[in-house]
Amino acid sequence: MSALPVPPLRFTNTLSGSLQPFEPLDAARVRMYVCGPTVYDFAHIGNARPAVVFDVLFRLLRRCYGPNAVVYVRNITDVDDKIIARANETGEPIAAITERTTAAYHADIAALGCLSPTHEPRATAHIADMVAMIESLIAAGHAYAADGHVLFDVASDPSYGCLSRRSLDEMIAGARVEVAPYKRSPQDFVLWKPSDANQPGWDSPWGRGRPGWHIECSAMSARLLGASFDIHGGGQDLIFPHHENEIAQSTCAHGGAPFVRLWLHNGFLMTEGEKMSKSLGNFYTVHDLLAEFPGEAIRLVLLQTHYRQPLDFTKAAIERAKRTLDRFYLAMADAPEDSGGAGGDEDDLIVLDALADDLNTPLALTRLHEMLNELHRDRTPALGARNRRRLKAGGALLGLLQAEPEAWLKAAGAPAAAQAGSGGVNDAAIEAKLAARAAARKAKDFKAADAIRDELAAAGIVIEDKADGTRWRRA
Ligand code: AMP
Ligand code: ZN
Repeated sequence: MSALPVPPLRFTNTLSGSLQPFEPLDAARVRMYVCGPTVYDFAHIGNARPAVVFDVLFRLLRRCYGPNAVVYVRNITDVDDKIIARANETGEPIAAITERTTAAYHADIAALGCLSPTHEPRATAHIADMVAMIESLIAAGHAYAADGHVLFDVASDPSYGCLSRRSLDEMIAGARVEVAPYKRSPQDFVLWKPSDANQPGWDSPWGRGRPGWHIECSAMSARLLGASFDIHGGGQDLIFPHHENEIAQSTCAHGGAPFVRLWLHNGFLMTEGEKMSKSLGNFYTVHDLLAEFPGEAIRLVLLQTHYRQPLDFTKAAIERAKRTLDRFYLAMADAPEDSGGAGGDEDDLIVLDALADDLNTPLALTRLHEMLNELHRDRTPALGARNRRRLKAGGALLGLLQAEPEAWLKAAGAPAAAQAGSGGVNDAAIEAKLAARAAARKAKDFKAADAIRDELAAAGIVIEDKADGTRWRRA
């Protein structure tokens, strides 16, 4: 356990529906599993929400328990019927689709400031674990083979429905379950299914086939985190049936050992006031947004809403978030530098307190704004340096404000594509003009100096003369 001062953590547990204090099973090894992407297409901004939300939780846990005491597993689902369907539509081999999409996911999520999870298992690398878990479920009387399939026998598990709090009747009435002749009961779900010659498949005691989606997460979490662990997360849409089924599989395969103590679910994201859809033109992939906006501004928008609330994501909100970040970086650039060694472990405590209370990112951001206001009000070296430090340390917990202020301002937080000298004004050209202006000023040729300033202003470059030289930024 870290020696740093740590506030008590509490979170809303989907299992109970209420706020609960968080106590890990083992404070030296805090374990968290988050359902990752199914890799057949670019991630959309809705998929980015759990990645960013649980990245903040990962940062918070590392801060509280120590950077090496947190094990974060986020899987890659690389065998799934959506992937097979995509391969059939496009003719691209499955392996090429999953590899390309996984690489794109990594690049997108890194641009949003997410740390890499500790482990990122791919389902196809854990088929043997899945087969073994299915065998133990059959042996324990919780699953049955029928017609090349293996089904989980929901009636064999009296606690089925504990997460979504639905009765079996409600589940059947919900009709989200597939009715099939080989099922004993309509809500029984697939653990294993047969593959034809054109589908990916692995040999198994039930013939050549492939796993169902739910068993993938149960098997990978057991392999990497054990039968019982601390936190499981994902989007709200996964509560039923995915997480309900994970609980049933994992507890029944492990002799009733409790599976997960804390279930966390992020609310759904809409874009421009509507459900995202290609036909409405509001279907934003992270990849496309990153061509237009800096990743940090997109991240800020995702954190402005509490993770449990629905979020209406708009491009206008990203523009505003970018200007907000400009203000933070401008104030940080202006604040006196630390003389070194002055930083304390407590610089991030105000933000830490907000996050400790059910990951309250909007409150954490309010705290950063208060520091910014203080920075504007009081520019004395001691307080200025302290607030700059607090912004950086508090920002680190949120994965924000970690860029060099000067670098952010020079790039105007532009996406990489826009930084490559848009309008012919690249950094070197600007520096050259500033040198010429400095020379003109030295020679008291103020007319020439002003002409250079006007020329830069016309190109959207703002310059400010400071005691220690001239600073520039893109407006
Ligand atoms: P998928 O690749 O569809 O399995 O989704 C990956 C993750 O993104 C899951 O945790 C989903 O719950 C989450 N997710 C998908 N769509 C949205 C959305 N519109 N808003 C929030 N989370 C979402
Ligand atoms: Zn999962």
